[in-house]
Amino acid sequence: MAKKGTFMSKDKDLLASVSDISTESEFFSPIPAGYKKGKTRYCFVLGTVMSGLGKGIFSSCLALLMQDKGLKVAPIKLEGYLNIDSGTLNPFRHGEVFVLDDGMECDMDLGTYERMLDMDLTRANFATSGQIFSSILHKERHGDYLGRDVQMIPHVTGEVKLKLRRLAAETDADIVFVEIGGTVGDLENAYYIEAMRELAYEEGPNSCCFMALTYILEPKTLGEQKSKAAQLGIKQLMQLGVQPDIIACRAANPVSEKVRQKISVYSNVPFERIFDMPDSASIYMIPAMLRDAGLDFKVARLLKIDDRIDLRHERKAWARWCDFTDKIGSANHQVTIGITGKYTSVRDSYASIINALEHAGIALTSETEIKWIETTTITDGNVADNLKDVDGIIVPGGFGTRGAEGKIACAKYARENNLPFLGLCFGFQMAVIEFARNVCGLTEANSTEIDPDCTGPVIDILPEQKKIEGLGGNMRLGGRDIELKARTLAWKLFGKTDSVRMRFRHRYEVDPRYIEVLEKAGLVFSGKAPNQPIMQILELPSHPFFIGTQAHPCLTSRPLNPQPMFVGLVAAAMQRHYPDEKLPDPVQASRKVCRQTD
Ligand code: GLN
Repeated sequence: MAKKGTFMSKDKDLLASVSDISTESEFFSPIPAGYKKGKTRYCFVLGTVMSGLGKGIFSSCLALLMQDKGLKVAPIKLEGYLNIDSGTLNPFRHGEVFVLDDGMECDMDLGTYERMLDMDLTRANFATSGQIFSSILHKERHGDYLGRDVQMIPHVTGEVKLKLRRLAAETDADIVFVEIGGTVGDLENAYYIEAMRELAYEEGPNSCCFMALTYILEPKTLGEQKSKAAQLGIKQLMQLGVQPDIIACRAANPVSEKVRQKISVYSNVPFERIFDMPDSASIYMIPAMLRDAGLDFKVARLLKIDDRIDLRHERKAWARWCDFTDKIGSANHQVTIGITGKYTSVRDSYASIINALEHAGIALTSETEIKWIETTTITDGNVADNLKDVDGIIVPGGFGTRGAEGKIACAKYARENNLPFLGLCFGFQMAVIEFARNVCGLTEANSTEIDPDCTGPVIDILPEQKKIEGLGGNMRLGGRDIELKARTLAWKLFGKTDSVRMRFRHRYEVDPRYIEVLEKAGLVFSGKAPNQPIMQILELPSHPFFIGTQAHPCLTSRPLNPQPMFVGLVAAAMQRHYPDEKLPDPVQASRKVCRQTD
């Protein structure tokens, strides 16, 4: 028999404390302390036909419209996979790993929610089947089920409902937005849908709104939109005992009235609640699309929550949002930023960087074209040719050896040619290696991640990491404060503040034994961890814009508050591209468009 605690999750927060388990009743539905029934409404967002339709985008845009109305919203993503978090997932398969301030490694959709809602989320906003089952198995070993056989229904579904109600109680939300990963019909998310059905039954009428996203096919050979796949997908949902309240039809083009009528007939959903959601050039235009169609008020009415709406709040919030969206597409400059990485074939693995560049570009009214540069083939010999038409580069985060020498060559080229440079995490480490090799003359300089036996380990594993075995959830993770050195570029970019907070996800760092030699040769470490010799920001004062950080600043860039390092990079790239114009320098640009403290 397994020992007690064998299945225990490392994170105690994930473990529910079930207070009211009765061995006899079939009504197993643990309610967390402080839960006020009727206070929180629930919107469930499900996908049919296929995944990748933008459930997270739909859900976050609707949540934004509700937040604008003065309502408190709390999103949660439920993933079907058995991993405890997204930390060990390959970005090739699953998109980037998004890191929350509390260190949770989660799905990239959480990034969409944070950006849209301008809100920091926590591990309470993310669940996987791995977490749910881990918690159940822990309780079972602990004897919490008092002799009962532990079943999918009611225990596993009870655990899901507990997670949702706990989020409601902790946030005091008016609406919890629940996004279920995958597609209706997937074995791995079926129990989530069952839990939603139970929750809606227990909470009573008008407490929950089921929204199904579907896809309308338009085969080229037919030249017309077909609704059958959508009908079947919705039917499958209905077979699970869920009657959708709202249907959103994703499609390449606007969906015809006839097709929407057909879907209405087959789904029992009134025609006026069948919405059209065609492809959009920018996701930031989707809130207006949904608002114009009246989705927000329809949902408010369905949930009988109209009386909580604050229209003055909405007017102000909407005006602020429109100030931002008005700038989309009205750029009067254009720059090209090279992103040098090894996952360049899968854009989703750099989703936050793409977003952060977009935010900075929109704020500075400059279109920011991205040029993807695969570093596995870059050498000192061909780097100039590869970077000749870019106005700045980002060397992004990464793991392992592949492409590392190419990234070092890019950092060298940028340093020597006054090309604006932003190094992120692994990119920061590559800039340190390059500087050590070519400026300090430490020809053997390297990272022990790349060459474990190198004789110049300027980048080495964190002392606290040396003791840890395995690869899951054991990096230096989450938000940390960074102490800024007065009068440096970083200090000015962040609004002359002593300290900023950014998010980290790394195992290696600058070996403190090399700090002195690097600084003597002209590298400035302008950001450090308070009370620890961990170097977190570097810069080169002799260069127009050369900055790197051990953190991932892209994770906290928001449309209404672009991240200063990205703003600095785009501003520097603009100055380089338009040398004859009097454009703001990086510091002036960040003062103008970033929310700053002074
Ligand atoms: N591989 C490096 C480290 O573990 C950088 C990680 C990253 O770029 N996220 O420190």
